[in-house]
Amino acid sequence: MVVETVISGGTIATHEGTFEGSIAMDDGRIVAVGEAAALPEAETVVDATDRIVMPGVVDPHVHIDETDVQVGTYESETRAAALGGVTTVIDFAWQDGLYVDDLDADATLGDCIDVKRERGERGIVDFSFHGTLSREDDASFAEMETALAKGVTSFKLFLAEYEGTGIGRGFVDRVFRRLAENGAVGVVHSEDPSTCERLTAEARAQGRDDPEVFPATRPDYTEALAVESVARLAAETGAKYYNVHTTCRDAADALARFQEDGSTIRGETCPHFLVFDESVFAEQGNLPLITPPLRTLDDVESLFEALGDGVLNTIATDHCVYTRESKTSVPWWDSPRGANGVQHSLELVHREAVVERGFSYPFLVRAMSTTPARTFGMPQKGTLEPGTDADVVIFDPDAPHRISASDGASHADFSIYDGLPVSGRVEKTFVRGELVADDGEIVCDDGHGQFLEREIPDWSG
Ligand SMILES: [Zn+2]
Repeated sequence: MVVETVISGGTIATHEGTFEGSIAMDDGRIVAVGEAAALPEAETVVDATDRIVMPGVVDPHVHIDETDVQVGTYESETRAAALGGVTTVIDFAWQDGLYVDDLDADATLGDCIDVKRERGERGIVDFSFHGTLSREDDASFAEMETALAKGVTSFKLFLAEYEGTGIGRGFVDRVFRRLAENGAVGVVHSEDPSTCERLTAEARAQGRDDPEVFPATRPDYTEALAVESVARLAAETGAKYYNVHTTCRDAADALARFQEDGSTIRGETCPHFLVFDESVFAEQGNLPLITPPLRTLDDVESLFEALGDGVLNTIATDHCVYTRESKTSVPWWDSPRGANGVQHSLELVHREAVVERGFSYPFLVRAMSTTPARTFGMPQKGTLEPGTDADVVIFDPDAPHRISASDGASHADFSIYDGLPVSGRVEKTFVRGELVADDGEIVCDDGHGQFLEREIPDWSG
């Protein structure tokens, strides 16, 4: 047998360990992993000497095609993803035609999934959606059923009042009861809305027009307050609860209090919370305005503690595609929240966790590939097991350079990481066996990306 590709000579990193070995790929799948001599012959042999060979990054939190408010498209943002070693993304589908042009206000979640699926297939990495439930009514449950039938097995809820999408705890309780029955995942944005609104109004009344006040308008306890109540509802109902973008010690502690074995409660944090503290507002103004906000140095370290202890389980970008102009031409309270990051997450987390703090490569694989894939019902992703999709990254751990916004493939025209030194870089990215990014260049045509019909995930393992 002659296979299409063998990657040989590198250090293979999986969620369990590292070893010297080679990987054979054919017809989109991993066919064998082991010593080079034991593998079949290949049409193409890729030399990975002195490189880390790992599963592609699975980023379960990106906002790609929200073209009513953002400028990202699947063509642009999946290029950024591929350049950053990201081979699977989970974007969002919305009710009521929210955020997606060409959809009317009577569009359902199912309509949005159909429209965005077509757009996603123009990209180059694989993708899925979280269905967002932003309306407190019975029809939302019918929309949930339709989404499940389309392979969307997680549902986003905004506890915060967020541009009209927030819902109350009473409805979270109802949704969680349904999720406990069908096994799908509740993905929750946890901030206490009324407290944040009051503090924001007070800051504005005091004439605080500098973005440095932003963290004080959404302090750590407003996040912990929300996390505590949602975690309590998850514990009470037995629903799977995934807390997105955990930023601080108090919120991580709140998750930990209700978390037994990760079978119902899991937490995510993001690269920006691992890289920056709140001093960044003085340096970058509105650009790093993200909700919840960047916090103190102690909070940054608490996130690494929580990742080490297994209280936080995944690292995802919350990639948002705004332009510099849209972020900076308005006062901080009108500035859109979020920043792009999918092109740099792997090299940033590699620097912060592996190089700076001694976390292992298997940790990196678990937090950025395997656990996100398993958390969201994609057993064919985030692993190098034979038979699974050949999504593979070749990473050079010893390639010091500075991040440059000018290399960005995203339609966002800035990077909050511009100029930051990192230690390693993504050299090659394969999606289902096809080389899509090579040495900083995209080398495949648009349209390689496939929609993933996800399973109901099993969180017991
Ligand atoms: Zn988000």
